[in-house]
Parts: sequence; C-alpha cells; structure tokens
Amino acid sequence: TRKPIIAGNWKMHKTVFEATDFVKELLTFDVTKDVELVVCPTFTSLESVSALLKDSSVNLGAQNVHFESQGAFTGEISPGMLKTIGVDYCIIGHSERRQYFQETDELVNKKVKSVLETGMYPIMCVGETLTERENGDTEKVCKTQTVEGLKGLTAEEIQKVVIAYEPVWAIGTGKSATKEDANETIGYIRSVVEQLAGAEVASVIRIQYGGSVKPENIAEYMSMEHIDGALVGGASLTVKSFLDLTKF
Ligand code: 13P
Repeated sequence: TRKPIIAGNWKMHKTVFEATDFVKELLTFDVTKDVELVVCPTFTSLESVSALLKDSSVNLGAQNVHFESQGAFTGEISPGMLKTIGVDYCIIGHSERRQYFQETDELVNKKVKSVLETGMYPIMCVGETLTERENGDTEKVCKTQTVEGLKGLTAEEIQKVVIAYEPVWAIGTGKSATKEDANETIGYIRSVVEQLAGAEVASVIRIQYGGSVKPENIAEYMSMEHIDGALVGGASLTVKSFLDLTKF
C-alpha cells in the first residue's frame, strides 16, 4: 500500500506570476486524495506558491538545495530556508544537475542527509545515460547511484526518501521507457534498497518513473507492480495536463 506520488518538475519555467496563476487554477479543481500531488516551481516562486497551497492537499517541492545550513556560499539556498517557507520535498541529483552542474553521488548524499535532517523529504533521482544503457550498465549505474546516494542513512531515514528512476535518454525526448523496462529497473532498485535497509523498507519506499511521462502513458506505468508514480517535466506545465496525470 504505497500511495502514488505524481510530482511536476517545472524546471526553469514560469515566473512567479505564471506559477501562482497555475496554482490558483489547479485549486479550483477537486484533486483526488488517492494520489499525492507535488508541484516543484523555481526558487523565486516557492514562497508565493506555498501561501496558496497552505490549506490544500497539494504538496510543495524545490528543485535543488545546498547541504549546509548557512554560510559563505554565494547564490545557494539552505534546507532550513526552504523548510521555513513550507517546502515539503526537494528534488536531489536530477540528471540535469549531474550533467550541467557536475553533481556527484557524494554531493547527492550530503544533500539527501541534510534534507532529511531538516524534516523534508528528498526525491532522489537516479538513472542511466543512453551510452550506459547501450553498454548494458543500466543496473550497475542505478545501483551505484542508489547505494552512494543513500550512504550512511538508517533504514528509518531511507524509508522517507522517494526515489525517481529517470533514464537520461527518456528525459524531454518523447522516447519514454516501455512500462516493462521501467518496472524491471525500478524493481531492481527496490532490491538494492532491500539490501541496504531490509525487506520492510523496500516494500514501502516509493519509487517513481520519470522521462516523457504524459497523460497518454501514465496509466501504463501505474499498472506496473513496482512503479509508484511519476516525476514529470513537460507534461506538468499546464493545469489540464497535470490533472490528467492523476487519472489512471
Ligand atoms: P520530461 O517529463 O519533460 O521528459 O522530464 C522528465 C524529468 O526530467 C522530470 O524530472
């Protein structure tokens, strides 16, 4: 009984005005309580969106965070700063951050720990590139990213993490993984979690699929045993499409 979680990663889209317009419109609809909904706007919209979401069942996520609680880190945002304005989740180690901002598994691990210590929930992203997939390294890469990202955490802490399996070749390309492939890799990641934290944690931890998910294919993924929701970019940017992602 894992509650499905659909998270919209808006990436570098929407001004604060566009973000608040989206949320105001979203809240005019009856959002299902059977699915946990999370919106992840840019930093500049978090506070305004948080105020709008306050009495709703929709949760709020940030797209990145620094691991220190404060200090001389120009341009960075701490977990406490996010927690204070009502942020519930932080996406950590998205492939775009690994690729364009050189984020390593070690850094991901520091951020995951810091977010948990602050009382928020990490959405930790893992996934192979096309070359890695073609070399047959999908499981190896996902295992390393999962083990290193969760290093030093207790079973109780690991249980609070949401893992997003996002094969890099499927992100923004329209080439989504087949439901069988996604389920197989996510099942494998679940077995890695079992090795780290035991069978009970592995049975309750939520693992999402991400990569070209849209209203037309969400039901396929959600029909699979191991897939507990989706982390969605492009198809989360309009209210209609985002809401349609909850209908599966
Ligand atoms: P798309 O849904 O646009 O492929 O992006 C996926 C993603 O990176 C979500 O984090």
